[in-house]
Amino acid sequence: MNTNMNEDIKEVLLTEEQIQEACKRLGKEISKDYEGKELVIVGIMKGGLPFMMELLKNITIPCTIDFLHVSSYAGTKSQTVMFKKDVEVNVHGKHVLFVDDIVDTGKTIAAIAKIFADRGAESTNVAVLLDKPVKREMEVYPKYIGSVIPIAFVVGFGLDYNEYYRNLPYIGVLKEEVYTKEA
Ligand code: IMP
Ligand code: MG
Repeated sequence: MNTNMNEDIKEVLLTEEQIQEACKRLGKEISKDYEGKELVIVGIMKGGLPFMMELLKNITIPCTIDFLHVSSYAGTKSQTVMFKKDVEVNVHGKHVLFVDDIVDTGKTIAAIAKIFADRGAESTNVAVLLDKPVKREMEVYPKYIGSVIPIAFVVGFGLDYNEYYRNLPYIGVLKEEVYTKEA
């Protein structure tokens, strides 16, 4: 890893401005769709948080927020979903909107949506900054999508490689040499 993280990026997929634009568009849509409904926005830690914060600025209706910590990735390969922290809110009868950084295989979202439905949530939907549909294994269709991306390992704006790069203000494709060097 370079001391200048920008040098580890092969290509910028979404600039900070494009992310802000996407959040404005999605915020408007969500505010319209959930008007008059009891909405709980559940951020998926850690990767979903920068997107959640940007999205919240653009949601104009009353809502509450909570957090779920799920871990499913080691390096660049998708692995089993693990729950590390649960929400505090009782979701029974409420409309739950999960906010995450990316949907890849769909395993994470499929697992949590099922659990929240079993808990009696009135509805569950998903907002993601990035949709990577190429490797989808589950029938997961996020209702709110910032941008659809091709098959590539991306970092920034919450997305990490071994916990680093989450603080980049944009979404970029990581140079292959960064992870092949360590493997
Ligand atoms: P899924 O369960 O395979 O859909 O994986 C979802 C999770 O995997 C996301 O919340 C991310 O944390 C992680 N993930 C998937 N693709 C990438 C990527 O390209 N870069 C970084 N993390 C990723
Ligand atoms: Mg994640």
